[in-house]
Amino acid sequence: MDTIRLYNSLTRRKEDFVPLNPPFVGLYVCGPTVYGDAHLGHARPAVSFDLVYRFLRDQGYRVRYVRNITDVGHLENDADDGEDKVAKKARLEQLEPMEVVQHYTDRYHADMERLNVLKPAIEPRASGHIIEQIEMVKAILKSGFAYEAGGSVYFDVYKYSQKYPYGKLSGRSIDEQMSGQRALDGQHEKRHPADFALWKKAAPNHIMRWPSPWGEGFPGWHLECSAMSAKYLGQTFDIHGGGMDLLFPHHECEIAQSNATFGKEAVRYWMHNNMVTINGQKMGKSLGNFITLREFFDGSHQALQKAYDPMTIRFFILQAHYRSTLDFSNEALEGAEKGLRRLLQGHENLNRLEPSDRSSVDITALPGLCKQAMCDDFSSPTLIAHLFDAIRVINAVSDGKERLSAEDLEALRDCFNKYIHDILGLKAPDQGNQPYREIIGGLMDVLLDLRQEARKNKDWSTSDKVRDALHELKITVKDGRDGVTWTLDL
Ligand code: ZN
Repeated sequence: MDTIRLYNSLTRRKEDFVPLNPPFVGLYVCGPTVYGDAHLGHARPAVSFDLVYRFLRDQGYRVRYVRNITDVGHLENDADDGEDKVAKKARLEQLEPMEVVQHYTDRYHADMERLNVLKPAIEPRASGHIIEQIEMVKAILKSGFAYEAGGSVYFDVYKYSQKYPYGKLSGRSIDEQMSGQRALDGQHEKRHPADFALWKKAAPNHIMRWPSPWGEGFPGWHLECSAMSAKYLGQTFDIHGGGMDLLFPHHECEIAQSNATFGKEAVRYWMHNNMVTINGQKMGKSLGNFITLREFFDGSHQALQKAYDPMTIRFFILQAHYRSTLDFSNEALEGAEKGLRRLLQGHENLNRLEPSDRSSVDITALPGLCKQAMCDDFSSPTLIAHLFDAIRVINAVSDGKERLSAEDLEALRDCFNKYIHDILGLKAPDQGNQPYREIIGGLMDVLLDLRQEARKNKDWSTSDKVRDALHELKITVKDGRDGVTWTLDL
């Protein structure tokens, strides 16, 4: 196993990844709140941590990957008051809240499958872990870092901050956090404006509610991830991931809850993907630039010039490092589409190359470079750059300018298969068209054989006719030293 260096958001530096209990790795990633279709902002963490998951597994780790579904307690404006996002959707569409949850969970799964995102090992729902969350509230009350007020239970941030550094992940001081608070209902119950709800008393019209020692209510949003990660990964586990927008308050509150419950840090490495902007702007429903994945896939949003294949979206995300911002524009996506095509075409060309006796070019460093890129904080853009360098060599071999031995060719194919398919999770768009691709390949063989025969008979006019007709179809035929090859330049 090679050492993986990863950027820990908590210490703000790259660290050697040393799992608590190798070869086992506990990975927890905050999943979606299921009250609407997934958009680019959902695709980014899903694809980024899919890359992490795939590479850890490739390195021989046995990863228990937990990604939750938030189906209760996520209130509007991420605040402690306001309507539950799921319940609001249910009210507007006259559905049971669990109908909304099922509907959007199914759609989320379908979108993730199209993006070739691997399924997590466990996908727990917040509503299925009310007992565990109530137990955690009880433990925090017992340790003295929470208090009950009017049927709700709040985390005592001020008291906690006397013993633990609250705000260390986001770098915000308590004073800063206070100034960001608005006067909302329920604020009067809190001892300190920075306190947050662990359990909220349900108003009479609140639909999603459960009995508790403090009366009927529902858990605070931050609690589910602390309770479910502890249940499935233990009190201390290796990696916790999520979008940068969750640094505060969500993850800051998770750290506080775990310390207050277990008296120790739950997470050893915090990883955060950066955000997606659209033409340099923040994505938001009010800005009219809120594009769902389904709208990308069928091109139906007015801001899109055309439909984009799910693999183009995946490649677009992987072209940037997960910690860099990612700006969407039609031009950027078209660039990604071309890049992906070039990569997959290079891979196809590689599979058609014939071996020579000896190699004229040294490509033995490639697998090491690819692995090195991934070991350096999962640098997918560096990995992709190495693959493009190799494609230049592949094209040179295809043109007869360079040669590769059977052994080198085999190593190159293994490397491409591994990094393109297994690690980057890329596949050719429209896999359903595979039978047609095979038929086209067969027809090309027939045509090129006929052309060869014409050339042998010095029938240049037929030979040129075939070449020109193929050229019209954007198929380039090359007569190399090792025979005839063709490429499709779409
Ligand atoms: Zn979470």
